[in-house]
Amino acid sequence: MASVNDKLRALPSIDELLRKDWAAALTEMYGPDLLKETLRVVIDNLRSNILDGVDTGPDYYDSIQNEVVLTIEKSMASTIKKVVNATGTILHTNLGRSLLCDDALEAINVAGANNINLEYDIEREGRGLRDSHVEKLITKLTGAEAALVVNNNAAAVLLALNSLAEGKEVVVSRGEQVEIGGSFRLPDIINKSGCKLVEVGTTNRTHLKDYEEAVTDDTAVFLKAHTSNYHVVGFTKEVSLSDLSGAARKAGIALVEDLGSGLLVDLTPFGIKGEPLVKDSIAAGVDVVTFSGDKLLGGPQAGIVAGKKYFIDKLNKSPLKRALRVDKLTLSALEATLKLYSNPDTLTSKLPSLKYISRSPEDIKAVADDAKTGLEKSLGDDFSVAVVESFAQVGSGSLPGQELKSYALEISSSKMSASKIFSKFLKEGSFCVLGRVHDDKFYLDLRAVDSADGVNPFK
Ligand SMILES: *Cc1c(COP(=O)(O)O)cnc(C)c1O
Repeated sequence: MASVNDKLRALPSIDELLRKDWAAALTEMYGPDLLKETLRVVIDNLRSNILDGVDTGPDYYDSIQNEVVLTIEKSMASTIKKVVNATGTILHTNLGRSLLCDDALEAINVAGANNINLEYDIEREGRGLRDSHVEKLITKLTGAEAALVVNNNAAAVLLALNSLAEGKEVVVSRGEQVEIGGSFRLPDIINKSGCKLVEVGTTNRTHLKDYEEAVTDDTAVFLKAHTSNYHVVGFTKEVSLSDLSGAARKAGIALVEDLGSGLLVDLTPFGIKGEPLVKDSIAAGVDVVTFSGDKLLGGPQAGIVAGKKYFIDKLNKSPLKRALRVDKLTLSALEATLKLYSNPDTLTSKLPSLKYISRSPEDIKAVADDAKTGLEKSLGDDFSVAVVESFAQVGSGSLPGQELKSYALEISSSKMSASKIFSKFLKEGSFCVLGRVHDDKFYLDLRAVDSADGVNPFK
C-alpha cells in the first residue's frame, strides 16, 4: 500500500490539471479564476484527507475531475429556488406572497427585454410620469383623486407620515399599534418618519373624544391602522372612519389609514368577507390610504398610496418618493394585474392567490387523493400517507382568524421523525416542497398546490 508521503507526492499540481481537456472546457464555461480556485480547494481537501488517513481510494486521481465539476456547479447554482407551498398559508411572506397572473408575467418579459416608455409620454412626445401607468387604474378602482406607488406598504406608510407630519405629532389608537411579521412595527415606522407618536385610548376601546382631546398645535395626522394579523374581540370600541374624518377636518389635520392588504373589489360572492375595501375608506373621507401590492391584490411587491390630490402631490414632491420608487418590472406587473380588475368575474380564475382562496374543498380533496397514491408509490413501504381534513389561511395579515377548509396529506414513518420528513421534502427531492410539522406530525396542505405531482419531488 502506498505510504502517506507517496500519496501526497502523487497529487497533481494545479498547472498539470489546467492542461487537461476537461479543464479547458470548464475554463471556457466558468472562466479561469473560478476554475483555479476550485482546483485549489479540491486538491487541498484531498491533501487533508490523505494526511488524516481517510481512505481516498486507489482511483482518487480520476475522481478529481468529478469533484471539480460538482464543486463548481454547486457554487454556481442559484440560491433562489422554486418552493412548492404546501404550508396551508396562501400568501406566505417567506415564500414571496402572491404568484403573478399570466398577463403580469408577460408584461415583465416585455419590460425586462426592452426599453419601455417608463417616463416618456408617447402621446405628448415628451417627459412622462412613472406612476401615470397605474394611477388611473387605481383611482378608478378606489374612487380616490390621485395615487402613487412605492416599494412596499411599509415604504408607503413611511412616505405618507414623513411627508405630512415630519416633526409633528401622529395620533394612533393604542389598540392599533400593530406589529406585522417581518419587523414592521407601527411605532417604529412613526419614529423613523420623523414624527412623534401620541397614543390614545386603551387596547380594546378608543372613543372619538380620545382623538379630539389629543389634538394640539403640533398634531398633523390621525393614523388608523388595520389590525391585520389579530382580532380584538369582546368589549371593544373603535371610532368609525367617517367620524374620524370629520374630526380630522375640524382640527385641520390629515387622516391617514394603513389598510394592510387593501381589497379592491368586493369578494364576498367568492366567500371572502371581512376585509375592508379601499374604496370604502376613500368614501368615508380618509385623506390618504396605503396598502400592499402583493397581498390580496395579487400583484408584485409594491406599496400603493391612494387619496386626495392635495396630499398625494405632497408625497410626490418628497425626496423620499425618489428613494422609494418602483422599477419598470414592478410597474409593468402591477399595471397588468390591475387591468384584470376591470372584470371581477374572471378574477378568481386569473389571479392565482384568489384562485386558491376561492377553491372548493372538493377540488382540493381530489388532488389530495391523487397525491396520496403517487406518494405511496414513490416513498415505499417505510412511509404511510393519509388524506386528512385541514384548515388553510390567507396569510400576510389578510382576513385574520378566517380559516379555509382544506385537505392535507399526513405523512408518517416508523423510521423517521416528522421533522426529518419535513427536511426530506424540503431538501432531498428533485424540487423543494415546504410542508409543516404540527404536534409531531408532518403535513402537506394542498390548498395552494395545483396538481398531485406538485407535492411529489420523489417521482
Ligand atoms: C402587511 C402590512 C404592512 C406591511 O406591508 P408590506 O407591503 O409588507 O411592506 C403594513 N401594515 C399593515 C396593516 C399590514 O397588514
